[in-house]
Amino acid sequence: MMRTLELAGAQVPVIGQGTWRMGENPGQRRAEVAALREGLERGLRLIDTAEMYGEGCAEEVVGEAIAGRRDQVFLVSKVYPHNASRAGVTAACERSLKRLGTDHLDLYLLHWRGQYPLAETVEAFERLREQGKIGRWGVSNFDLDDLEELGDPACATNQVLYNPQERGVEFDLLPWQQRQGMPLMAYCPLGQGGALLANRAMGQVAQQHGVSAAQVALAWALRQPNVLVIPKAGDPLHLAENAAAADLQLSEADLQAIDSAYPAPARKQRLQMV
Ligand code: NDP
Repeated sequence: MMRTLELAGAQVPVIGQGTWRMGENPGQRRAEVAALREGLERGLRLIDTAEMYGEGCAEEVVGEAIAGRRDQVFLVSKVYPHNASRAGVTAACERSLKRLGTDHLDLYLLHWRGQYPLAETVEAFERLREQGKIGRWGVSNFDLDDLEELGDPACATNQVLYNPQERGVEFDLLPWQQRQGMPLMAYCPLGQGGALLANRAMGQVAQQHGVSAAQVALAWALRQPNVLVIPKAGDPLHLAENAAAADLQLSEADLQAIDSAYPAPARKQRLQMV
């Protein structure tokens, strides 16, 4: 059994599955559906999607993957800021539910801050919650000042960029969320499969444990409480590796080696977005 944390009133495994870039190429669809199902079988039961991904097509892929097994999945989707008005949120949620083939989301996030007053978006989220269409709501790409302005304990999570290359949140946002008991959902935990995984220090730590650099990156984010990660993987070998990363414990020496490649923030850094 994978380690879990409490998110939006449920026990959720600390490693989930991202879906950005899925649904963009019809020729990949079968493989994407199979990958998500493989991930579910490996215990990666949280699926993160958004109306933005493939302009709805990623949600359709997820819908196909979870058909007949909705109750095994903790389903997260996101509303575009330009749809985050009172009426817009309701309509966007209905469209997402239809594409996903379900009558409820477990968690619904504002993808990033836009032109509508936060209170208006929150009111629409609360109405969806009363109607049972969403379990809880949260936000994404909110820096500390945004969260303080939101000032709502009902906000179930803040999903932000977090990996060794992008660790500015450790200075203030992450400790604040930990104090509030608001889980931080780390997106791009593998740095999108780029330079992070080719980094020498990451590779050396991986070699010492007989694991991959990707597993080190996930274990690094998960070294602290109240953090979950949502790596995206289409390759079945990657899914197996990612699921196993929950068991990897990094030593103090490992963490120091990663710190020398990617120093911890010494001062406030504006939250970065991808
Ligand atoms: P990730 O950091 O998850 O990297 C994904 C890439 O890493 C893919 O190319 C994947 O390849 C590769 N990969 C996965 N597992 C492994 C492994 N074990 N070894 C080597 N390579 C691996 O990037 P994402 O941008 O996808 O971020 C994760 C998720 O976060 C998104 O899919 C999305 O759901 C969410 N997100 C949210 C944002 C927001 O604004 N709220 C912004 C960006 C992302 P392959 O597919 O071939 O397995």
